[in-house]
Amino acid sequence: MHQPQWMNAELESLRDAARRFYETELVPHEPRWCAQQHVDREVWYKAGAAGLLCPGIAEAYGGGGGSFLHEAVIFAEQARAIAGGLGNSLHSGIVAHYIENFASEDQKRRWLPKMATGELVGALAMTEPGTGSDLQSIRTRALRDGDHYVVDGAKTYITNGTSADLICLVAKTDPSQGARGVSILVVETAKVTGLRRGQPLHKIGMHSQDTCELFFDGMRVPCENLLGPEEGQGFRQLMKELARERLITALMSLACMERAIEETLRFTAGRRVFGQPLLEMQNTRFRLAECETQAHLAAAFIDDCARRLLAGTLSPATAAMAKWWVTDACGKVVDECLQLHGGAGYMTEYPIARLYQNVRVHRILAGTNEIMKELIARDMAQRAV
Ligand SMILES: Cc1cc2nc3c(=O)[nH]c(=O)nc-3n(C[C@H](O)[C@H](O)[C@H](O)COP(=O)(O)OP(=O)(O)OC[C@H]3O[C@@H](n4cnc5c(N)ncnc54)[C@H](O)[C@@H]3O)c2cc1C
Repeated sequence: MHQPQWMNAELESLRDAARRFYETELVPHEPRWCAQQHVDREVWYKAGAAGLLCPGIAEAYGGGGGSFLHEAVIFAEQARAIAGGLGNSLHSGIVAHYIENFASEDQKRRWLPKMATGELVGALAMTEPGTGSDLQSIRTRALRDGDHYVVDGAKTYITNGTSADLICLVAKTDPSQGARGVSILVVETAKVTGLRRGQPLHKIGMHSQDTCELFFDGMRVPCENLLGPEEGQGFRQLMKELARERLITALMSLACMERAIEETLRFTAGRRVFGQPLLEMQNTRFRLAECETQAHLAAAFIDDCARRLLAGTLSPATAAMAKWWVTDACGKVVDECLQLHGGAGYMTEYPIARLYQNVRVHRILAGTNEIMKELIARDMAQRAV
């Protein structure tokens, strides 16, 4: 397993504590959670008590007071454990930061401490049945009526959708505009009517994670729940936070790659073919050497991006490079590793099969890899003028 250059004793001990928590509180429940398509509510409270929620949020708001590195350790370890049901990277790594960065002081004090204990579960609702990549074309409307917004529309593929108590909802407050008409409202689900949650969606992987559709029918949200002081800031807010989301996806992909390699080393060392361990065959050795090289390259790039994020210099284009390249490499590595397992690789009792199912989505969410390349090319094109 790769040891990031920024790792220190404190982060190592956090990593070990997180690993123990996942081994005892998540992994044994995975089969049942996969069947029910969501985790038990109480595991959120347990994760809060273990200090695994909102580690990068200021202590003044109940968070851990750590940095992106604390989050990186916690999220990577969960990906390595192949126990993705607890949608914490979204809750703590994304939603909590929208609130910390853009909400009013009063809202931060109201929501963040409860997110840190697990009392409130967060979700981010951008994607709609008709549009995902092209966010400017969303059709969910939030139109002002006195001191409330009236929301009509639908969202889909929403992580933590069924359990969410706080939904950062991306909607058009001015449908006549494109990006400038987009705002984010924080929906406190216990306080609204007109919100309906669909049944859990049947996915090809990440079965224990709760993913559903949301429907809004005249849902009334107080105007004070607008994120940021004025309307039309949603697109800018999204752009500001997306680099972090993309780096989180990349580092979780790296953790999956490393777990796949560890599993395959162990499997091929024990499996005998034609009178010798599979690991002794030159093809196996070359394939594993290639996989290890990919993981090392990914790790070096991610370490560099993490340092830039901490320094405030991670550009959207660089984050996009990390996201597409690492998730693409992860797909190839996990596929190679599965092949080296033979038929066992197709059986979900083997970790490699579950990794194969789970990592496919990394190339799709947090902005598809094609959109990442668009962003990079757009950035490059500026150099040409
Ligand atoms: C398990 C899972 C969890 C998710 N969780 C969330 C969540 O919590 N919140 C949320 O809001 N969304 C979530 N999503 C949605 C995800 O972000 C979208 O699926 C993704 O952004 C792609 O949007 P789309 O599905 O509408 O595909 P589309 O945008 O329709 O894309 C279809 C294809 O067209 C390609 N394409 C689109 N535009 C271009 C272009 N300009 N140039 C070249 N190719 C292009 C895409 O790359 C893709 O290959 C989740 C999705 C999944 C599968």
